[in-house]
Amino acid sequence: MPPSTASKSQQTDVVIVGAGPAGLFQVFELGLLGITAQLVDVLPKPGGQCIALYADKPIYDIPGLPFCTGRELIERLMQQVKPFAPAFHGGHQIQTLSQNTDGLWQLGTDQGFELKARCVIIAAGVGAFVQRRLQVPALDALRGMQVFSVVPTSIQNQHIVVVGSHNEAIQTCLDLTQSSDPPLSVTLLHRREVLDADLDLQQLFKLACDAKKIQFKLGQVTDVIVDRQRMTHLQMATPEGLFESITVDLLIEKLGMSPKLGPISQWGLAMDRKQLQVDTQTFATQSPGIFAIGDVIGYPGKKKLILSAFHEAALAAYGIAQYLNPNQSIPFEYTTASARIHQRLGV
Ligand SMILES: Cc1cc2nc3c(=O)[nH]c(=O)nc-3n(C[C@H](O)[C@H](O)[C@H](O)COP(=O)(O)OP(=O)(O)OC[C@H]3O[C@@H](n4cnc5c(N)ncnc54)[C@H](O)[C@@H]3O)c2cc1C
Repeated sequence: MPPSTASKSQQTDVVIVGAGPAGLFQVFELGLLGITAQLVDVLPKPGGQCIALYADKPIYDIPGLPFCTGRELIERLMQQVKPFAPAFHGGHQIQTLSQNTDGLWQLGTDQGFELKARCVIIAAGVGAFVQRRLQVPALDALRGMQVFSVVPTSIQNQHIVVVGSHNEAIQTCLDLTQSSDPPLSVTLLHRREVLDADLDLQQLFKLACDAKKIQFKLGQVTDVIVDRQRMTHLQMATPEGLFESITVDLLIEKLGMSPKLGPISQWGLAMDRKQLQVDTQTFATQSPGIFAIGDVIGYPGKKKLILSAFHEAALAAYGIAQYLNPNQSIPFEYTTASARIHQRLGV
């Protein structure tokens, strides 16, 4: 999908907040009706929960697909929306949503980018995926200097501590040991002995520990020791209830992603128990021009399933088409038989 944030502000007919399976299939359903949409997601790539939480796990309940992983489903959806070439603004969290006096909805991102649209579809799932961080207040002042979620370029002569237990944490440790510019030491810190990474990675990790290339420490960070504005040690509590300190120059947080509903609850939209309320004929919210689908919505009988999101996207597309063209009747057509749809799909 082409990225598109060259200018600070853009105007379009439809903006979709969230590029999970719901947002992606919404692009397709709108495309069938001749409507192009732009996608925004705080994650750098589309996929939502399917990629962030279970990329390599199997899904068995997608109609017509007896089995696929989260990643395969997203790859197939990306292929399906290709004919409609939606602009994708990755790495942008929508912070603000308000209506201008001209009726256009204005969306502002945390990167200072603005989008104006006649219609907005909120497909924000369980919220924006953000990196989990250690909840140790003393680390906040060190973020970007000695505390990172991505390994910085200069690691030579550094004592590096990686916190986490999933694939990304283990892979980061292994990559550090392979570096042409090796650090002084690599330590993996996790609160318990059992790791959550895939078994093949765990085996490689064990070999690297046996070869003394990586140290594995059990404990939870409680505080840091700072000397002349530089973090020198992490203080941690061990599972046995003892306190230890370990030398550190760089701390890499690889604790995985967690979703945060965040700013959506401040946009003045009707919500019940953190779910957006919609009309289930069109998936319109009570704010004209704002629609919502997928895990972010609630209605009687709602199930947080991908196939439910697909159904919601199909109905929302008709609702949106009618909203954008109030004086036209929107034809209902089959993809098998409609020449107009074939032309739009390029088939
Ligand atoms: C472990 C696990 C297994 C599952 N297995 C199945 C299964 O087998 N079958 C099934 O049908 N369902 C399954 N589900 C549920 C399924 O993944 C969800 O129903 C589906 O992902 C919902 O899609 P969505 O697009 O609504 O939301 P999401 O997938 O959550 O995508 C929403 C996107 O919106 C983005 N976003 C949110 N707020 C903002 C903002 N303010 N600005 C920018 N971006 C924002 C997020 O970063 C995210 O990428 C599973 C879920 C989990 C966690």
